[in-house]
Amino acid sequence: MPPQPLARPLHPSSVYRFADLDELDRVSDGVEPGFVYARDGHPNAAWLGEKLARLEGAAWAIPCGSGMAALSAAILTYVTAGGRIVAADQLYGRTAKLLRNELPRLGITTTFVDAADLDAVREALRAPTQVLLVETISNPLCRVADLSALADIAHAAGAKLVVDNTFATPILCRPAELGAVLVMESLTKMIGGHSDLLLGSLAGNDPELRQAVAASVSSWGFSAPPFDCWLCERGLATLDLRVRTASANALRIAEWLQGRPGVRRVVYPGLARHPDHALADRQFGGSFGHMLCFELDGGREAVNRFVRGVPEIPLSPSLGDTGTTLSHPDSTSHRYESAAAKTVLGITPGLLRMSVGIEPFDRLCEALAVGLPVE
Ligand SMILES: *Cc1c(COP(=O)(O)O)cnc(C)c1O
Repeated sequence: MPPQPLARPLHPSSVYRFADLDELDRVSDGVEPGFVYARDGHPNAAWLGEKLARLEGAAWAIPCGSGMAALSAAILTYVTAGGRIVAADQLYGRTAKLLRNELPRLGITTTFVDAADLDAVREALRAPTQVLLVETISNPLCRVADLSALADIAHAAGAKLVVDNTFATPILCRPAELGAVLVMESLTKMIGGHSDLLLGSLAGNDPELRQAVAASVSSWGFSAPPFDCWLCERGLATLDLRVRTASANALRIAEWLQGRPGVRRVVYPGLARHPDHALADRQFGGSFGHMLCFELDGGREAVNRFVRGVPEIPLSPSLGDTGTTLSHPDSTSHRYESAAAKTVLGITPGLLRMSVGIEPFDRLCEALAVGLPVE
């Protein structure tokens, strides 16, 4: 074999060519390695999948076209018409919309529970349920799910635990090792890490489930495009560094924001007063992630003043970039929730969600301080 390139090649081809029918048969039957048609698989997805599986501590991982594609594939793999999902009541906005607005058309209903209340979860699972869906760290208020306990409860009730691990990333938490049957990640966020790709993934241990997920991904058209996989694999090279640096920054920023004039509360699992601090410490081994929330005195007007006053920190409703970004749950993820529902969840007009980046801490503080009232 001639010397191979060190950098990963990109294979944009949508289809492969064969010497004869016999070769086509061997590749189609999996007797010989190779690819036929890119919706069913291609080299960049395979390479990314191998690396993701290792990161997740799982037997396999399959990249999908987005986080929502991965979540849809997970649900469509398990849940049939007339089926039922039990889901956490704090979820990424589009996930809540999928469960509330799309799945009922297929006869699939969802019951929402407080995932921190294990008795409530047990109670909700008394009716036949296919899937228990939770986020390791919830959007936006960073509640932490006790994954081992939830896995036991789900499996005792005959349901499968599906975990959205996007806020935690596999650096903080590997749900497949804690009993989750399927682990979903939006690679668009911290794992891709540079706000320049859209991808998701599903990981698991059961080899038969792998076949079912792969079939679901290809049949429903949830496949991942080569260029995004190529970019994401490049992002993976620095994932550990980025998560650790951003988590360390987030803890310091949370402490720095606490008690500053104009800041009513700070929500971060790394703070001792966070309701899930002890669980987070045990489950994540001393890092608490890059996501935090803080509430400003003065509601929406105060948020507008702050956002206009911190030009270096973009208001940008995503997360996981190398740079710190802000978002406003009240006008993005929870825009169409009723006022009553928002009050129950703690989504107030003054609440900002911050995805902390890897900037030098002092620079980040300076950038934020100019938008806050002087002490
Ligand atoms: C972004 C996100 C999703 C959806 O992922 P996309 O890649 O945008 O489709 C799902 N869950 C969480 C927690 C997310 O942050």
